[in-house]
Amino acid sequence: MRVKLKIGEEEKQFIERVSELSGQDVYKCYQCGRCSAGCPFAFEMDLLPNQIIRMVQMGLQDEVIHSKTLYLCASCFTCQSRCPKGIDLARLMEAIRLLIEPKGKDQFGPNDVPTKLANELPQQVLVAVYRKFSK
Ligand code: SF4
Ligand code: SF4
Repeated sequence: MRVKLKIGEEEKQFIERVSELSGQDVYKCYQCGRCSAGCPFAFEMDLLPNQIIRMVQMGLQDEVIHSKTLYLCASCFTCQSRCPKGIDLARLMEAIRLLIEPKGKDQFGPNDVPTKLANELPQQVLVAVYRKFSK
């Protein structure tokens, strides 16, 4: 039996916004699973990277935005290098984070890093964390 999925206006808008912000064509994904098989953080994720993109294709906004996967993705680009369609899942996840985080509400700032730690951590780490948790 074939199940027909009805995508409403709200779902369409979510798919369009994610595609627009990420610059990725989510419909190119055909669920081969290579991204998830190579993701170094998959073992901690509640939704695997291929499940995230499938849910975006289906417009399942609520399920996606509550996933901790969005914040566990380390933007390492392993998935993109393995994807036969060249889909950049790190950008996709970043786009979803941008959509759900209230404008101007930083979740993490320079004052949250103890001075000793700030002096020891590589600058790239700090920049990556600020980028992920602030707007
Ligand atoms: S590797 Fe690419 S095509 Fe395969 S499931 Fe992941 S995003 Fe989709
Ligand atoms: S970019 Fe994110 S989703 Fe892709 S392999 Fe790295 S941690 Fe996993």
